[in-house]
Amino acid sequence: MRYLSDYHLHSKYSFDGNQTIEQIILKAISMEIDEICLTEHISFDPKDSSYNFFEYNDYENEIKKFSKKYSGKINIRKGLEIGEYHLYKEDFDKYFKEHNLDFIIGSIHNLNGRGFRTNIAESGVKYTYETYFKEVLTFVKMGDFDVLGHLDIVQRYAFETGKIYNLDDYKDYIYDILKVIISRGKGIEVNTSGLANNLLFPKLEILRMYKDLNGEILTVGSDAHTRNRVGENISYVYDMLKGIGFNYVFTYNNRQMNGITL
Ligand SMILES: [Zn+2]
Ligand SMILES: [Zn+2]
Repeated sequence: MRYLSDYHLHSKYSFDGNQTIEQIILKAISMEIDEICLTEHISFDPKDSSYNFFEYNDYENEIKKFSKKYSGKINIRKGLEIGEYHLYKEDFDKYFKEHNLDFIIGSIHNLNGRGFRTNIAESGVKYTYETYFKEVLTFVKMGDFDVLGHLDIVQRYAFETGKIYNLDDYKDYIYDILKVIISRGKGIEVNTSGLANNLLFPKLEILRMYKDLNGEILTVGSDAHTRNRVGENISYVYDMLKGIGFNYVFTYNNRQMNGITL
């Protein structure tokens, strides 16, 4: 039996989470997931909906309690999904020093202080993609994170307007992003949340590029905000990664990674 892990999950500790930690655990167990990592949103941007929402102490206590209660059935890790680290470096550095976390997903959710949908509506799809990839590059060069979250997530919003990007248009940025991530010993996540619309974040071609560049560090996550989506397509994506030639996915404990054979 292979070891399945879902490394991107939001509970009610995220402003947009609609499930309790225990609901996530029970659903994950029913999906035969062996390890989960909660990755709640946190942001230091006063205009972001996550601002001042996340409560660490209760989160830590709940994870401790449920780790004991479900010990032997599932492993539970304590993570965060951070937004725009590069704009709030000092706040995040201080936060990471003062709080004990297993895993950090570094994501970009806003451009120019606005969401992707607004950027697309006001400035167009091309501008939004380009600005997004530039922003990601700035972030990965200096960010404190374990994996980059949902690279090319702009697809989710561009899809609504029927415009899926052509990789060649942004290949140079993506190449640089992947090179930096590899050279810094960080990883990327494979986010399954768009598969119902046939979207993978990042695109399969990017995963192939990553493999060709000898990138190895990957996590897989459902990005579930509701209980019915926990563990969704994890096993399917494991097969796909194996098909591309990857050998491992990674789990994290106290920010130390551990490779699990696919
Ligand atoms: Zn995200
Ligand atoms: Zn997320």
